[in-house]
Amino acid sequence: MTQTPSVPPNSDLRLRMKVAAATQILVDQGIMSYSGHVSARLPGRDAFLIQPIDQPRSGLRPEHLLICDYDGKVLEGPDGGAPPAEVCLHGEILRARSDVNSVAHFHHDLTNSFTLVEGVPLRVVKNHAVRWKSGIPVHTDPAHVANSALGRAVAGTLGAHHALQIRAHGQVITAESVDAALCDSIHFVENAQAMHNACVIGRVLPLSDADMESFELYFKRGPHVNKLWRFYIEGARAKGFVPGDWDI
Ligand SMILES: [Zn+2]
Repeated sequence: MTQTPSVPPNSDLRLRMKVAAATQILVDQGIMSYSGHVSARLPGRDAFLIQPIDQPRSGLRPEHLLICDYDGKVLEGPDGGAPPAEVCLHGEILRARSDVNSVAHFHHDLTNSFTLVEGVPLRVVKNHAVRWKSGIPVHTDPAHVANSALGRAVAGTLGAHHALQIRAHGQVITAESVDAALCDSIHFVENAQAMHNACVIGRVLPLSDADMESFELYFKRGPHVNKLWRFYIEGARAKGFVPGDWDI
């Protein structure tokens, strides 16, 4: 039987559980697969939690996670654990954006398709996609975000927005918490799916500024994030891949 490493004492166990659970839920939802990652800034430190490069996303546990600095260097973690090739994507966004505490990066083909065609950019078509009313920039360099310079370039394209597409590559979602990053990742893909479906029928009519303002009038982000988090955590417990004793 393979021996799993133990979580270091005084570590942010609850945050680790959240990263592991969110990652597994994204896999279960078909949003993440054998690649992609969720990161979480460690409170009070210039460092963040992220999974090792070769750890199956479907079996991620709190004790597997590495602690990396913004340069992508491993500070703590199980022996021999190497960070993902795109760790600098997370590090440079967390360095640049003090309002962001969690980043999700995945490679979702249908969502990607809007970066592969001319003249049909991904727009806000569903109400919960008002999160991205400021825009969804497209980073035109499809390269693996494999070093700090490339990470800074992605952070530059992101600017003050809350998500971006990397052309012919994947998606980046930024949020104030792991719970919110999971919620936003699900809504981002739902919005892309809805627009894709609409494109099949005819010309797409994105939400107008007035539509978005109207929706936001009665929308409360905190309770909504909590509702989705609870829904997906309970589903994960029922399916058995998130243990019932994880206090999340
Ligand atoms: Zn990637």
